[in-house]
Amino acid sequence: MIKQIPVLRVCISCRKTYDRKDLLKITKDHKQGIMLQKGMGRSAYICKSKKCYSDSKIKKKLQKALKTFLEPEFIEIFEKEITSYNNYPH
Ligand SMILES: [Zn+2]
Repeated sequence: MIKQIPVLRVCISCRKTYDRKDLLKITKDHKQGIMLQKGMGRSAYICKSKKCYSDSKIKKKLQKALKTFLEPEFIEIFEKEITSYNNYPH
């Protein structure tokens, strides 16, 4: 039997380690720009803790992690996404 090893990633806000599937992935895709949960390229992960995603410094942290400039609209989309994501039954 092959044991499934969880892929661990660090939340860019609280710096805690989580299973990748419990994190929201933000990727700077080579072709399509910033994407949530998909895309290929430099990625950052954030956990579902409200403290983290509603952090006033989160945009700066994301920009630093992704080495890119984020449009203000992105933060709105991001917040909506993570709020709905939190409502998913587990
Ligand atoms: Zn966190």
